[in-house]
Amino acid sequence: MPIAHFQNTSPLKQFLARHFAKLVAIGAFVVLSLISLTIIYQNYQAQKQRLINYSASLSQNSFNSSKEALSLTARSIFISAIFKDEIFKLMAEAYHGDQATRDAVRRELYLKLYPTYQMLRNENLRQLHFHLPNAVSFLRFHRPDKFGDDLSGVRPTIMAVNQTREPVTGFEEGRIYNGFRHVYPIRYKNEFVGTVEISFSVDSIFELVLHNHVEYSAILLKRKAIEQKVFADELSNYEASTIDDDLLRDKKIKGFHAGTATLDENTLQQINAAIRPQFQRNCERCSFVTQIGAKHYLTHLYSLQDFTGQKIGYIVNYHEEPALGTLNKSYLEVLAVNEVLLLLISGLIFFYARSLMSQQQTLKRLANIDSLTGVLNRHAFKKALHENMAKNRAHNNPLSVIFFDIDHFKSINDNHGHLMGDEVLKYLTLLIRDGITHNDIFARWGGEEFVILLPNTSFTVAQTIAERLRKRIELQQHFSFTITSSFGVTSLRDDDSTESLLQRADQLLYDSKRLGRNCITAHT
Ligand code: GH3
Ligand code: MG
Ligand code: MG
Repeated sequence: MPIAHFQNTSPLKQFLARHFAKLVAIGAFVVLSLISLTIIYQNYQAQKQRLINYSASLSQNSFNSSKEALSLTARSIFISAIFKDEIFKLMAEAYHGDQATRDAVRRELYLKLYPTYQMLRNENLRQLHFHLPNAVSFLRFHRPDKFGDDLSGVRPTIMAVNQTREPVTGFEEGRIYNGFRHVYPIRYKNEFVGTVEISFSVDSIFELVLHNHVEYSAILLKRKAIEQKVFADELSNYEASTIDDDLLRDKKIKGFHAGTATLDENTLQQINAAIRPQFQRNCERCSFVTQIGAKHYLTHLYSLQDFTGQKIGYIVNYHEEPALGTLNKSYLEVLAVNEVLLLLISGLIFFYARSLMSQQQTLKRLANIDSLTGVLNRHAFKKALHENMAKNRAHNNPLSVIFFDIDHFKSINDNHGHLMGDEVLKYLTLLIRDGITHNDIFARWGGEEFVILLPNTSFTVAQTIAERLRKRIELQQHFSFTITSSFGVTSLRDDDSTESLLQRADQLLYDSKRLGRNCITAHT
């Protein structure tokens, strides 16, 4: 049964007090989770970025070193296969000869170098192309029937050699194919008689790059550069990239090693579709992570410059990257372990907070409750009285106080023993408690003296209640002997302080004692 309680506690305070431990534990879990998740996530992002950057650098560096290696190859081919008196002499004849001579020389040159050209084709040689000193195409081994066209506006590499008479190297789009070009001057008897170009497709670079992934590479070139230079009937060598309509993919490029695993067309298209909305035109180097099913793919695009230093497109490298999956898995594991630990910590916090709360409640109880009878003590009663007086005054409600003291309690102790005296105190407490309402505040004032505060109760009603309680005590049959009490009843006056109210009630109680006990004295 609830003991008379303080009525001033707000519902919010009550809720907080009841759920304190739970709220603290949940709060700790949320705050600690937010902090640790942020740190773990940032760490994950940093690791992922490192992995991406490392992979991109590796890919780009391998490409660049392979490109250098290929330049050496071109130089070796020039020195061993072209740098010959008989070849240079033919070019001199062509330079000085008429149309018929040129046709004859072209045929002879073609037949002479055709076996070498065929052999080099297997090594990914793309162009072996002779030009006259005025940058007019003389013999294309890859299109022997196309010649005589002026390349001066199209091929800056050739123009550079014409000017400097020194070999040059660089990437360049041509009339038919693009390539990593190496153009050498041809001099016969100290006369500059033309140039020769030895070019490789980007495939020969891809071939040299170390392959330790399932991968695929491509070259994407800016549409404008292609449309400006390539013969209209050769434009079919290109198709729009699904990453960006402005980039054209060289369809002739295989993009992977024969005999090594590559990505199928469907996967590539899915990756491109995922990249398309994120791709930023003119990025210098950009990398993308795409997950398809359980597999992770990394795609790097790095900018490609042509011989004149202009950005002409991109080299793209796609590869499967299992390290990304491993990273994600370990990230999730760390998250899970973190959350489990935080749950444990929050559990500990919950139990700690709960024991703190129960300790606090015990202390509060001890401070406010009388240990023998379990009702409020004098200290708690005074506090309650103070609060109720203020409240009742504010609402202009009546408030009454009943004091009562057991008659001749000393003789009960003397006749039946002190323990029996305690039993009487406990029993009478129950009896009174059952005789009042939950709104009434009942306390042990000290010894065998008790006090009841009756909020919203008029003087007349308080008198009736006191009389009822007096009778209740007098008529009890729990003990074989009769117990009686004397009562003092009063109500709050406008000029009352807590002290004057209590003093008056106490005085009235002693009036009852004087008047012969087992009676009620009431006055306002
Ligand atoms: P009166 O009718 O004038 O009130 O007489 P009384 O004997 O009740 O009053 P008195 O003040 O002379 O004695 C009160 C007694 O109550 C004295 C004290 O030993 C006893 N008492 C006070 N507290 C307790 C208690 O917790 N347990 C027991 N058993 N007795 C108590
Ligand atoms: Mg007494
Ligand atoms: Mg007394």
